[in-house]
Formats: sequence, structure tokens, C-alpha cells
Amino acid sequence: MRLSIRHWIVIWYTIWMVLLIVLVFAGIFSGSSYLVERRTKASVIDAVNDAINEIEYDNGWLDFDDVDFRRGGAYIALYDKQGFRIAGNVPEEVPYSGFSDGILRTLSSRGSKWYIYDTRLSFNETDSVWVRGIIGSYDMQAVVSSMQGVLLIAMPLVVLIAALGGFLIVRRSFRPINRMIRTAEEISSGNDLSKRIGCQKGSSELYKAAASFDRMMDRIETSFEKEKQFTSDASHELRTPISVILAASSYGLSHTDDKNAKETFGVISHQAERMSLLVSELLYIARADKGTIKLEKDDIDLSELMDMVVETMEEKASEKNISIHTASDDNVIVSADRDMIMRVLINLVSNAITYGRENGNIWVSISRDADNAIITVRDDGIGISEEHINRIWDRFYQVDGSRSAGNGSGLGLSIVKEIATLHNGSVSVDSEKGKGSTFMVEIPIK
Ligand code: ADP
Repeated sequence: MRLSIRHWIVIWYTIWMVLLIVLVFAGIFSGSSYLVERRTKASVIDAVNDAINEIEYDNGWLDFDDVDFRRGGAYIALYDKQGFRIAGNVPEEVPYSGFSDGILRTLSSRGSKWYIYDTRLSFNETDSVWVRGIIGSYDMQAVVSSMQGVLLIAMPLVVLIAALGGFLIVRRSFRPINRMIRTAEEISSGNDLSKRIGCQKGSSELYKAAASFDRMMDRIETSFEKEKQFTSDASHELRTPISVILAASSYGLSHTDDKNAKETFGVISHQAERMSLLVSELLYIARADKGTIKLEKDDIDLSELMDMVVETMEEKASEKNISIHTASDDNVIVSADRDMIMRVLINLVSNAITYGRENGNIWVSISRDADNAIITVRDDGIGISEEHINRIWDRFYQVDGSRSAGNGSGLGLSIVKEIATLHNGSVSVDSEKGKGSTFMVEIPIK
């Protein structure tokens, strides 16, 4: 599984946080247990020393009335030289043990630890007493277990809250990136340059990057708009001079008997017609890009339309001695823009003639399946090689040599695709070089 940067960040700092908490607790624990132990040891020694100060000896009489036998948690007891206790008390669980002067010892008994500190107090050559101080070692094990309890409940809670908080912050910070990705995807899939990330102002670098992205898109959109406007304006402007050239050349053609002049006017007229077609295609594309094309939908009978188009193309086909065969399912009615579907048929049949072979055939058919009407135009012409097949729908794309073969501009198929898309339909092609091509346009039946 591939994790996103967001998840890595959260996992990374959560691990460090757990380690840090464990280290801090361990540090606090070992530091405090050391201090507590030191204080415990010091207090038993102090208690013994205080007791010694309170003991008075007078001619064989021992006075220990002022001794505090329970001082600061320590037990104080006095023993005679034979080791019999003469005053004070000791905790029950601490067994009797021998004396060692001025040495702090530890003794474990019944699961608890004790510190024992003895001092021998000599009054003269013969008389002396032992002063014994006993104190329980502070039960650090209990502290550890209670801390463990706290740690086990509190740590997951703290880690959970911190991880959740961190995740939310990271998610928030990454929001511009997610939006950037979404916007870029929307722009590339829908071709809509007006999409923006549109994050509110923030000071993080990502917000700044998002704002820069938006500004960049503003500029790209503006320059695209200008380009579209230019294509549209230029095409409009070209229409009038082309009409004038067409009119003038046909006037010249009909008003001269000179063979050379007739030929020249013929060439001018032919090229002006090509230019006129190109300009109308450019205008169409400019309008499609601007989104200003309106479909004027009608219920149209596709086989009728096919017959009409084929009839108008017969003449062009006969120039290459190509036979056009038609076939149609009954009643294939679609709700579509008549002129546009006609344009689809004209473009496809005209291509089939242009790229068809002399004395060849073209099969045009209209059929339907459960959801779609299908226009199929098949030819047995030059075909299209695999390297080109995916690009023929691109604007201005022409397979090498096609420029000279036909009068086209490379816009015909892109317009066919555009029209199919406008009708929520699709296009496809199947072709083999040297054998022929089959073009299909599917349009949903309402
Ligand atoms: P053009 O104006 O060049 O015909 P199109 O967009 O209609 O432009 O077609 C693009 C290219 O696809 C053509 O230049 C041609 O190379 C190829 N093409 C289109 N139709 C056919 C066909 N029926 N047979 C072979 N090649 C074709």
C-alpha cells in the first residue's frame, strides 16, 4: 500500500511522540527514585543522630525520655551491648540482625526493603548502647505501577489526540494541494480552463502556490480566449474577400474565351472554394471552443439523411469510378441537429472517396442497437497505419501524403468528433493500411 505524504508525516511524528513520552516518563521515574532514596537514607541517619543527642548517661543510669522513637517515618530502637532491645520499637516484619557501627545497610524482608543504620554509643570503657534506626525504603515499585497505569491510559489518549490534531492540521495544510490536483484533473479532463483552485488567503507556502497556480491559469485562459477570438475574427474577416474572389473568378470564367485565362480562373475558383471550406470549418471550431454552438434538435430519420448525402456525393465518387452502397435498418430516428449530422455524413463519405481507390467501393449503413444509432462508413481504400490511427481525430492532423491527396485541411474528422460529443455520442475507427477503413459514429437514441 502506498501512503500519502500526509500519512507519513502523521505516522512519523506519532512514533517520535510515543518515544519521547516514554523517555520523559523513564527520566522522571529514575530521577525521582534516586532523589527519594537519597532522602530516605539521609532521614534514617538524621533520626539516629538526633536520638544520640537526646540520650543522657549518668553513673550507670540511662536517660532516654527525650528520644523521639518515631521520627520522620524512621523507627528508633536502643539495644544493650548484648543485643537486647531496651527501648523503642522495630517493625514486625524486620528480623533481628547483627550490628555494624556507622554503616547504612539494606535488608529485604517479606517483599519490602528496609534501610538499617546503627551507631554505637559508648559512655565509658564498659557501658555502651546501640542506637538503631530503621526506615522502609519508599515503595518505588508502587509508584512505577501507578505510573504505568497512568501511562497506559494517558499515553494512548494523548497520542490519539495529538495524532488526530496533527492529522487535521496536516490535512488542512494540504488542502490547497488536493484542490490543485482536483483542479488540474478537471482542467485536463474537461478542457475547462475557467476552473480555479480558489483557496482562501493563507500564509502557508501551499496557499501561495495555489494562488500562483490560479494566476497562471488566469493568464493561460486569457491567452486561449484571445487565440479563439483571433481564429473567430480572422475567419469572419476572410469570408468577405473569399466571396468576392469566388464571385470574380466565376465572372471571369464565364466572360472569357481565352483557354489560358479560363484555366487560371478555374484554379482561382477551386482554391477559393477550398479556402471557403477551411474558413467555415475554422469558424465552426472557434464557435465550438467558445461553447456558443446551439443544437437545434429535430427528430431525424438517419436513412433518409444518408440517401440525401449519398446522392449529392455520387458525382464526386464517379470521378474515381467508386460505387457507393447503402444499407439501413428501418426507422432509425434520433433527436439531433440535422445540419450537423449531415456534416458528419458528408465528411466521412467525402474522406472515403478521397482516400478510396479508383474503381473501389464505399459502404454506408445506418443501424441501431439497444441504445444507439450507428452510422458506419466503410471503404476499400488506402487505409490508415497504426501509428497514425489515434491521431486522425486531432485538429489539422493529416497522414503524410494526405495533404496532396485531398483538398482537406485536417479538420474534418475533428469536427465529426466534436459533433458526436455534442450529441453525447462517440466515434471510432478500424483500419488496415492498404485494405480500407471503417468509421463509426454512435449517437444515443433518445
Ligand atoms: P482531411 O481534411 O485531411 O481529410 P480529416 O480530419 O478529414 O482531414 O482526416 C484526417 C486524416 O485522416 C486525413 O488526412 C487522412 O490521412 C486520414 N483519413 C481520413 N479518412 C480516411 C479514410 N477513409 N481512409 C484513409 N485515411 C483517412
